Amino acid sequence: MPETKVVLTEKDLPTHWYNIQADLPFPLPPVIHPGTKQPIGPQDLAPLFPMELIKQEVTQDRWVEIPEPVRDLYRLWRPSPLYRAHRLEQALQTPARIYYKWEGVSPAGSHKPNTAVAQAFYCRQEGASRITTETGAGQWGSALAFACNAFGLESKVYMVKVSYEQKPYRRIMMETWGGKVVPSPSPETRAGRAILAKDPESPGSLGIAISEAVEEAAIRQDTKYSLGSVLNHVLMHQTVIGLEAKRQFEMLGEYPDVLVGCVGGGSSFAGFTFPFIQDKLSGKAEALRVVAVEPTACPSLTKGKYLYDFGDTAGTTPLIKMYTLGHSFIPAPIHAGGLRYHGMAPLVCALYDHKIIEAVAVHQNPIFEAAVQFARCEGIIPAPEPAHAIRVVVKEALRCRQRGEAKTIAFVLCGHGHFDLGSYQRYLAGQLEDYELPQSAIDQALSLVPKVT
Ligand SMILES: *Cc1c(COP(=O)(O)O)cnc(C)c1O
Repeated sequence: MPETKVVLTEKDLPTHWYNIQADLPFPLPPVIHPGTKQPIGPQDLAPLFPMELIKQEVTQDRWVEIPEPVRDLYRLWRPSPLYRAHRLEQALQTPARIYYKWEGVSPAGSHKPNTAVAQAFYCRQEGASRITTETGAGQWGSALAFACNAFGLESKVYMVKVSYEQKPYRRIMMETWGGKVVPSPSPETRAGRAILAKDPESPGSLGIAISEAVEEAAIRQDTKYSLGSVLNHVLMHQTVIGLEAKRQFEMLGEYPDVLVGCVGGGSSFAGFTFPFIQDKLSGKAEALRVVAVEPTACPSLTKGKYLYDFGDTAGTTPLIKMYTLGHSFIPAPIHAGGLRYHGMAPLVCALYDHKIIEAVAVHQNPIFEAAVQFARCEGIIPAPEPAHAIRVVVKEALRCRQRGEAKTIAFVLCGHGHFDLGSYQRYLAGQLEDYELPQSAIDQALSLVPKVT
């Protein structure tokens, strides 16, 4: 059997992140201040983010050096392996070659520490001693708590209350790394107190948790705020995934025909695919197909509109041009597969708008079916998010069987599902329902998006 995994050594750890902004054949629409309707400047962001990250957000430099302390921490789990899914190929009886880049080897079990570590480093370097953030189920909060601990910073994580109560294990992970986790809405902020005054039993939401984390960082001199997806600098930090994968394909003497990744905010997808999209943009890999996969319950790219909208549900952030379902969109509670964000990273949206990447939406039962098939073939139990990608990979591989094509298909397996077994349980018990967001709900939420001309 040809090899199962391609392993790089620590010597092969990338020295620079790749910034796709340098290679875009079109300008990226500016981020707009909701009051003045003018592009925002560094000073608008300075209370919340360290200056280096504000610079990285807009830099046109193609390569940005990874600081040595960040690379040192990356060494704990990077370079990550690229696997060939031999057993899945056999099960599908496909001539296609299926590869996955495995990011579940990080301490937090997903790709998120790739940016958490970088962000904690820059906050520390610029004199902050604390970072606030929000988290839903806890994937981002746990990555940030790990990173803050590594650089001697305090992390304060506002966790959506219903998750805090129903999903204790990631909270305990955060606390184990020294993080302070607060159920949101909390009495600690103005935003939290206002919600609690109206509804003491509020289950919380990501939007409320963002407001609380931002408020605390804006008020306190010693505190910065941190985001786990969507922003340009976050996507750039994630490019270590694709840069390593490119090296691994070089070692194999292969180049992928199709790349697949799931999209919530778009960071793992971007991190994996942008270094390859560089080749597509330069004409070196014109035929490369790049597919973003989202849930039918939250179809930002496939059913949203490319408009200026708020980044958060509360309508407090700057306005970002993105494919959006409307910031007031609330995901259906029966949806078990994550990827619930109403918008999408502006860089991913711009590439989609220019037809450089494709997008598809998939239902949750077929997603879990693919996840279980993958687990039974390859052993690894994937998080429900990357299972979206697996579903599409299986489809592509079956099409290769039909047509007798030996294509190379690769996807990013961006996290393990060890904390998602409740969703697996519901799937295995036949309790998951497929759900497609109705057009009327989208139209309703889009009617509340502010007008920017
Ligand atoms: C957070 C998360 C996602 C969604 O975020 P992206 O920015 O789209 O990558 C997907 N998969 C896993 C495992 C995650 O932790």
